[in-house]
Amino acid sequence: MTNPKLTPLNLYKITPRTNCGQCFLPSCLAFCAAVVAGQKTFADCPHLRQEDIASLGPIIQNRDNRDSARPEFLEKLEKKVANIDFQRAAPILGCTSDQNNQLHVNSLGKKFTVDKQGKIHSECHIISWVQAPILSYVTHPTHIDITGNWISFRELKGGIDWQGLFTSRCEKPLRSLADANPDLLTDLIDLFMGKETIWYKADIALILHPLPHIPILICYQAADEDLGSELTIFFDECCGANLHIKSIYTLCAGLVKMFEQIAASHHNS
Ligand code: SF4
Repeated sequence: MTNPKLTPLNLYKITPRTNCGQCFLPSCLAFCAAVVAGQKTFADCPHLRQEDIASLGPIIQNRDNRDSARPEFLEKLEKKVANIDFQRAAPILGCTSDQNNQLHVNSLGKKFTVDKQGKIHSECHIISWVQAPILSYVTHPTHIDITGNWISFRELKGGIDWQGLFTSRCEKPLRSLADANPDLLTDLIDLFMGKETIWYKADIALILHPLPHIPILICYQAADEDLGSELTIFFDECCGANLHIKSIYTLCAGLVKMFEQIAASHHNS
């Protein structure tokens, strides 16, 4: 059996080339590039034939088999999604639903679509760290509206247990990033539909919505002559009722990693 190099063009040959958009990407070629990048699997295109995939050789089949190695907790979350009435849940979650029985979740200004199998589709790159928090959010047993009251991470339910990790993986690295890139936080407002606000002693305070009813407030104060810089991430009081603390941590740690990549790409450009 041949074992060709994995490239978008190589994969393109086995697609129908109809650009139908059912894979949530604008073209078959974009789909192939996403498969090569590990952002989509063959299962995301309903028109591919198994024999054509098999003809491409073991490297490519193994790539598609990664789905079977997915963490068990994700599979459990996907099963829970099947029991949700999207029409009824959408307004409670701050999402929208459509006649195709899909739920549209806004994360940082980007649309993610959840289907009844719990699979997430998006035109933008689906980032693994956002996948579990979206499904956790959608399936969370309780849900309340945004309160407008900001509290610290440790005040969230279960926050004390995760505080050390949250400080070392989220607040500290983000503070270092802001120290080294003075414009980063204002750039994030434009990039992720954030909103600037006024906060006591902060030079810049911005509100982001990683999930519809999970608002976070990032407050940064630059170093002064005698004092070092400070950065604190606050949460709306509703966050503890709408998402498990572990998912809140995962979401914030993923965000900070993404901000680091953005800052690095700015440096390199
Ligand atoms: S679903 Fe398949 S056929 Fe349709 S655009 Fe995507 S890759 Fe092409």
